Amino acid sequence: MIKSSDDPRPLHFVLVPFMAPGHMNPMVDLGKLLACRGVYVTIITTPQNSQRFKSTADRAHQTGLPLKFHSVEIFPENCENLDSVVSLEAISKFFEMANLLEEPLKIYLKESSPSCIVSDFIFSWSSKLAMELELPRFVFYSMSCFTLACVETLKEREGGRESEIDLKKSFIVPEIPHEIELNGEQTYVFVNSSEIDEANSTADGFVVNSCMDIETEYEEIYRTKKGRSIWTIGPVALCNTDMTDKSNRGLTSSSTSNATILSFLESMDPKSVVYVSFGSLSGTSATQMKELCLGLMDTGHPFVLVVRSKNNSMEIESWLENTQFEERNKKNGLVVRGWVPQVMILTHPSTGGFVTHCGWNSTLEGISAGVPMVTWPGFADQFLNERLVVDVLKTGVAVGAKERVLFWEEVLSVKRAKISMAIGELMGGEEEAVKRRKRASELSEIVNKAMDVGGSSVNNLNALIQQVTSIVDKKKPKSKS
Ligand code: UDP
Repeated sequence: MIKSSDDPRPLHFVLVPFMAPGHMNPMVDLGKLLACRGVYVTIITTPQNSQRFKSTADRAHQTGLPLKFHSVEIFPENCENLDSVVSLEAISKFFEMANLLEEPLKIYLKESSPSCIVSDFIFSWSSKLAMELELPRFVFYSMSCFTLACVETLKEREGGRESEIDLKKSFIVPEIPHEIELNGEQTYVFVNSSEIDEANSTADGFVVNSCMDIETEYEEIYRTKKGRSIWTIGPVALCNTDMTDKSNRGLTSSSTSNATILSFLESMDPKSVVYVSFGSLSGTSATQMKELCLGLMDTGHPFVLVVRSKNNSMEIESWLENTQFEERNKKNGLVVRGWVPQVMILTHPSTGGFVTHCGWNSTLEGISAGVPMVTWPGFADQFLNERLVVDVLKTGVAVGAKERVLFWEEVLSVKRAKISMAIGELMGGEEEAVKRRKRASELSEIVNKAMDVGGSSVNNLNALIQQVTSIVDKKKPKSKS
C-alpha cells in the first residue's frame, strides 16, 4: 500500500466520472491503474452505472485490488447514463440531473476524508466542493492534448467564442506547429465554458488520458497556456490486457454475444476486417445508415458494423430486413445492435481498419491497437481529433464529413460512393496505404511502450501519486519532537 510518510492510512483517491461511457470507461481504467500501484480507489457513481462495471468490481475484489464503487441515487427516472437518453431535449436535462451528485458526494467526502479527488472536467462544481473541504483536486480529461491546445489557442482568437464567429468560415488554427484548417462549427467543443475555465483555475493539475510521446508539442502548448501541471497517463484502455477485461469493459446490452463476435473475427484473414462504430452516443440516422451499409458492401471487405439506433430503429430494421442485407453479407459481414466489446475487436489480429466517429477514447483505442482509421466526425471534439489523426499522425483517411451532426440528428452527410472510396483507400495496397499502416503500427508501439515500466505515462502516473503524497504530507500538523 502507498502511504504518505507519516500517516498510517494509505492514499485514497476518489474518482468522480461523468455518467457517459466516454467518461466512465477511461476513469475506471485510471482507477485500475492507480489501484495496481497500491492506492485505494473509490469511484463515485449511480447504481446502474456501478452495475455496468460489476465484473471490474468483482475482479478487483477477487484479486485484492483496492478498487470499489460507491453508488448514490440521484436520477429519479430509469436513465442514469447519457447513452440511454433518447431525445435531444432530454440531453440538457440529463446534464442538469448529473449535477445532483454534488450533495451525496459531499457527504461521502466528509465521512471518508480521502487524500484527493479526481473529477471529470464537466463537474465544474467540484472546484467549490474541494475548496470547502480543503481537498486536493485534479481535473480529468479524456481528450487529446491536440484538442485541449487548439481550444485554448482559439479562445484567444479575435471574435472570441464560437457563438460570435462565423461558424461556416474556414480558418487556420494560429500558433500551432501544423497547418490545421477548421471552421467555427467544427471547433464547437460544447464543454468549452467559462464555468469550466474558472473551475480549472483552482485545480491542482490536469490528468489527461493521452500519451505525450505522440503529441509532445501539443502537451507543451497546453501546459504553457494553462501554467499548471499536466500528467498524461494514457492510453488508459491498455490496462485491459486479458480477454475478460477487454470483453467486459463497461458492458451493456447487445444483440450479439462476445463469443459470436470473436468467432466471426477468428474466421477472417489477418488485418482484413473493417470495424465500423460511432461510439456510445451517436446514433446514425436511418438514411445515413442505408448509405453506410451500401458503401460498406461495395468495398467487398469483411466487416463488423455496429448499429446504434435511437428513435429510428424501426426504419433501420425494416430496411435491413427488406433488403436482406445481413443474409446477403452473411459470409463476410456481422451486424451488431447495441454494445460491442470495442477493445476486444480493435486488438483482434483480423481487424485491419476502423471507421470511427473520432470520439477521443475510440481514436486512442484505435491508435493503441495500431489500426488505421477512416475518420467520420459529428460533433464535440471529434473534428479536432480527425485533424490530429489525418494531418498530424497521418494514420487516417477522412470520409469527408464536414458538417456538425448532433447525436442522432436526421441528416445524410456522406454518400455511398465517398464511404466506399475512403474504406478502399484505407484497406487497399497502394503505396500510401502501406505507409499509413506502417505508421499506425509504429504509433501503437510508441503508446504501448509509454504504458510499460519506465514509459512516459507510467512515470507520469507515479509522479501524480508522488504529488498527492507530498500534498498530504504538507497538510499534516508538524510533530512536536
Ligand atoms: N464503447 C464500447 N462499445 C460500444 C461503444 C462504445 O466499448 O459499443 C466504448 C469505447 O471503447 C470507448 C467509449 O465506449 O471507450 C466511447 O467513448 P468515445 O470517446 O470513443 O466516444 P463517445 O461514445 O463518447 O462519443
